[in-house]
Amino acid sequence: MSVKVSIAKLLAQIGGPISKLGSGSGKSFAGIVFTKIAGIDAISELSHDLDIGSIILTGTNGKTTTTTLLIKLLSNDVPIRSSFESNTINAIASALIQQKGDIGVFEYGIRNKKYGIPDTVQRVVDPVGVVYTTISPEHAQVAGVKNPFNEYYEAKELLSKGMDNGVIITNCDDPRTAFLGYKKRDDVKINYYGLEVDDIHDFFDADVIECPNCGKELTYEKRFLNHRGIYSCECGFKRPEADVKLTNVEFTNEKWMLTIEGDLFNYPTNKHVSFKVDLTVPPFGFHNIYNTLASITAYATFTPKTENIESTVKDVFNNLDMSFIPPGRFEVVKHENKLIGLGQGDNGDAAKINALFMNQFIDGPLEFIYTTPDVDEEEIFDDHFEVIKALKPSHVIVVPGRKSIEKAEEYYNIIKKEYPDAEFYPLSYDEMTKRINKLYELAIESEYDYVIMTGCGEEQAMWENIKQKLIKR
Ligand SMILES: [Zn+2]
Repeated sequence: MSVKVSIAKLLAQIGGPISKLGSGSGKSFAGIVFTKIAGIDAISELSHDLDIGSIILTGTNGKTTTTTLLIKLLSNDVPIRSSFESNTINAIASALIQQKGDIGVFEYGIRNKKYGIPDTVQRVVDPVGVVYTTISPEHAQVAGVKNPFNEYYEAKELLSKGMDNGVIITNCDDPRTAFLGYKKRDDVKINYYGLEVDDIHDFFDADVIECPNCGKELTYEKRFLNHRGIYSCECGFKRPEADVKLTNVEFTNEKWMLTIEGDLFNYPTNKHVSFKVDLTVPPFGFHNIYNTLASITAYATFTPKTENIESTVKDVFNNLDMSFIPPGRFEVVKHENKLIGLGQGDNGDAAKINALFMNQFIDGPLEFIYTTPDVDEEEIFDDHFEVIKALKPSHVIVVPGRKSIEKAEEYYNIIKKEYPDAEFYPLSYDEMTKRINKLYELAIESEYDYVIMTGCGEEQAMWENIKQKLIKR
């Protein structure tokens, strides 16, 4: 380490604790001090301090949960440095400066190239692992500017594009994430995760999915969730074989039993390892099956103690409660005689997965309380409307989920054409407490036994607050 870098690191360490008194940028403060003094490229000297290296996790949905699970798994076997719920290089630098450990586990969320620096992060953190969860069109806007999906996808790709060592861990059931591995298959190892069961299948109308390699329509042999399934294309691109797979599943109301088998490349030992575990987990939703597979795959790829894999995985998952789910995420809650499914569904993919989860429990007429997207988010609305229709609700209530009440009313008018008795409550964003209280009231006073409440809304400020009110009673 150069003198300049050592001094920067020292100053950042001294300055770091002060930041705990401050607000907002607290987690990133040491990193900000460090990069101000030593420059962003000096972060590579910090990351090369790690004995094994860094793992970066990214995706549209599931990255925080997957990161949380991976931290639980890996820290059982080896000291790690970690940062999650963070979108900045400075948060990663802070973790490298303030913590000790052989492996770095860092969540990195990124919306597009303009508001993130994925290629720089790749270069200076120089990860030996990049983990992809899902990549779906999300908020069409970033800071008031349209964010086209192809730019968003490219930004995610840049995190692994420059890798020439290590392992990419990605979902093979999803053609978009699988393609990121497929393109890099000659440069680095790819460990894929996916499903190999018959009990999970989609009930939505099948969308046409374009081949990410050639643009032609993909042929599906099986669809699990939305665009995830067993697919192939005439150009030769097809679903890769999973290295870690869910081979059996049993669903009950109280618990789910999962069997997961793996045979994959382990990076620290440079060897292949295989394992098989039977796990009993809370009924945590289909999306968490993928988060579970992603975290186990990343763990089995990077633990230096391969003999621990089965026992550590069992230990972590058999003792899991719902608290590992980040605030605001979709859950099904029992309230008197009602089943109320509620939580964030900010993009079409998330809302569909919520609907698939809720659908398991629906056994009678359903009310759909829908919280709308904002201005310029028509694409998200279109996906949401499909979700509403697929669940065939007996009654629909529409509430603005974001700022614009006018836009919410426009979306409502479209819904009203198919559901003439749909109701609209123009609740304002600025009076969030009022909005929350009304949504809560609508759910508990619904005349239906089955209520789903999803769409757009602030995770913490809205969904988590409503959930807490419901659970308290
Ligand atoms: Zn193709």
